[in-house]
Amino acid sequence: MLRNLLIIFLLMFSTIHPLTVSAKEQTQEEKDQLKMALYKKTEALTQIPWYYLAAIDQYEEQVTKEPASELISITIPEQKWYGMGNPAYSTDPDWIGLFEGLGKDGNGDHKAERNQDEDILYSFAHYITTFGQTKQDIKIALWKYYQRELTVLTIMNTAKVYKKFGTIALNESDFPLPLSANFSYRSTWGDARGFGGRRIHEGTDIFANYGVPVKSTTYGVVEIKGWNRFGGWRIGIRDIYNRYHYFAHLNGFQEGIKVGDVVKPGDVIGSVGATGYGPPGTSGKFPPHLHYGMYQDNGHSEWSFDPYPYLKRWEQRARRK
Ligand SMILES: [Zn+2]
Repeated sequence: MLRNLLIIFLLMFSTIHPLTVSAKEQTQEEKDQLKMALYKKTEALTQIPWYYLAAIDQYEEQVTKEPASELISITIPEQKWYGMGNPAYSTDPDWIGLFEGLGKDGNGDHKAERNQDEDILYSFAHYITTFGQTKQDIKIALWKYYQRELTVLTIMNTAKVYKKFGTIALNESDFPLPLSANFSYRSTWGDARGFGGRRIHEGTDIFANYGVPVKSTTYGVVEIKGWNRFGGWRIGIRDIYNRYHYFAHLNGFQEGIKVGDVVKPGDVIGSVGATGYGPPGTSGKFPPHLHYGMYQDNGHSEWSFDPYPYLKRWEQRARRK
């Protein structure tokens, strides 16, 4: 029964989406190159730096279920594109302008098409320019568009990462501890835990000795650093996939690291300790370990998921290096 349903589902899927095959045949590298060319072209037309456009696109790739286009994921809702109360849904840019829609013609064919990559990017960039071109202007434009603080923060962070490395092809990862260290971990996500009332264990505990270096696993930006009653000395890093990585019970932080810093996989951020479960400075209430948590944001809410499979994959990849 279940298998039949699965077959029916697969058949439906393959007949509804025959057009996606061509895009899927492109390698990630080819896609990245095409996207970069589009971002840069839009920057030349609007003076909005490519890395902001790339960051908005990356954000939407993570949260948009049905993108309007295959390559560029930014999907401007119909009402925003055509304008409120526009009955005709005409692709005539003048008509759209009359209804204060965001849709513009970016490729010079005199049509503002909601599923056309150049039109999408040009329309969004043009919308931003109505606020200005500075970092602050862009932030305000994003706030007005998305009406959500975490979304704006995520996009600004990702833009910072892209700007620093000058590319969107940032696919490396690392295991949070050096492979030369003695460590052990198992899947404990969702287990009950004692301190702080009824909470489930939102992460994986990697047991290791005091002082073993703790590294960033991804590209991202330091979002939080300091003391937390449960986590002790902890650092939170927001990566470029709308995910938040939480490193807790640290012995101390890497010298000079601060909120807003861009990190890459392998950058040392602190060391293993046993801090937490009390007021600032409390340590030694449990064996030293790194508590590693991962949280996914889908554009509406953020939730904890099991980091164990990721840790395993990062460890395997690190061993092959
Ligand atoms: Zn833990």
